[in-house]
Amino acid sequence: MGKRRTRILIETKEILVAHKGAKPIVTWCRECQAETKKVTVLQAALLCQVDQSSMQAWIQGGQLHVSQAAEGDLLICLASLGYQR
Ligand SMILES: [Zn+2]
Repeated sequence: MGKRRTRILIETKEILVAHKGAKPIVTWCRECQAETKKVTVLQAALLCQVDQSSMQAWIQGGQLHVSQAAEGDLLICLASLGYQR
């Protein structure tokens, strides 16, 4: 049951990403051991309706899968965002 709920949450967030005009970047996620969609910290904050400092706290708390984009931006794995809220 928990898994199913998470899956729905992820799908909802993916739809939200599309709505906000964000273009998720597909890259390898070490934690997921799979290629997953990633968004920037700002986009992730918008999706979760939290401010960027809350998002930073989640990142620092190790709650999210984070990887570094080529430009130096942090990218947040959407799959890990599905577990929040
Ligand atoms: Zn991940």
